[in-house]
Amino acid sequence: MSKKQTFEEELAEAKSTIPTIEGFTLVTCVAAQVRASYRKTDQKQLSIILQFPDNYPEQPVVIELTSKTLSDKLLNGMMKLCDDEIKKYIGKSQVLPVMRFVREFMINNPLCVCNDEIATVKKDLLNDEDKIKLKQDTSQIIMKIVQERYNMNLKITVPDLYPSQQVQIEAAESNFPDILKVFFVGQAVEIARKCVQPPGKPNTKGPPFKPRPSLLEVCSFLIKDCVKRYPLESCAVCTERVLLEDPEGVTKDPRKRVERVYCGHLYHHGCLAKYMKTPPFKDGKFCPTCGKQIFHDKWKVSAELAEARWAHKQARQRELAEVTDFLS
Ligand SMILES: [Zn+2]
Ligand SMILES: [Zn+2]
Repeated sequence: MSKKQTFEEELAEAKSTIPTIEGFTLVTCVAAQVRASYRKTDQKQLSIILQFPDNYPEQPVVIELTSKTLSDKLLNGMMKLCDDEIKKYIGKSQVLPVMRFVREFMINNPLCVCNDEIATVKKDLLNDEDKIKLKQDTSQIIMKIVQERYNMNLKITVPDLYPSQQVQIEAAESNFPDILKVFFVGQAVEIARKCVQPPGKPNTKGPPFKPRPSLLEVCSFLIKDCVKRYPLESCAVCTERVLLEDPEGVTKDPRKRVERVYCGHLYHHGCLAKYMKTPPFKDGKFCPTCGKQIFHDKWKVSAELAEARWAHKQARQRELAEVTDFLS
């Protein structure tokens, strides 16, 4: 365009062009105000309101962004970026450049839907030794979480339809023992699923199920309840640390292998085996740390059976003692 547009010409062009840009709906286009809404997904929706100073376009257009779904913090950040961008268009038409800039921002920054969750992860869950990198081009959050000499590399993908769709836990390389690694990822996937899928048995009393954001819940579990917790965890029976100080170290003693029980507490294999075979058995065995009943695949025996085994072992020991007495 060689000739400078008048304000009237700019408004006329905006009026005909904005509705043709994918995602846009034009609400108002008059000299007092231009208002359009942009929608990419249910979550990525916002309104753009432009007001013109008296000496427009020598002065920049005043931009306001509002949204029912995006956070104020994100909108404030975007408004600042728009203000910076629009400085490039001083003295020229600014309406269409602003609209296009907002649309490109929404397309090129898919992680904007979980902006606040990411800020909370950084502030409340991570510390100096951990690393986090946002990859907007693939909509992924890459993290390396560290505790003592243990670590976990996480790749979390935020889908386009987030938060209606849950985050995907893509990879989780780590130097934790396999038994914990499998639990960490399996449980994280389950937490994410529960955020978006209604429970099998619907809760008829409460409000209807609504999908909720899964990123922070998943990160909180993996960081706080797994990686930061277990390297410091003591065996509930002998009170020594369960994980080896050196993650690469191999214990020759099978009794020192790690066992995790239903309540989440860790035991040495040998300590748990002994504890499960020691009375009292009435109503089951309970975790000495938290008092919850211990459920573990390897020790699925009823109280009666455990009692019977215990009695048998005691009787056998008495017999042996008698034999020894007899021989001596
Ligand atoms: Zn122990
Ligand atoms: Zn426990």
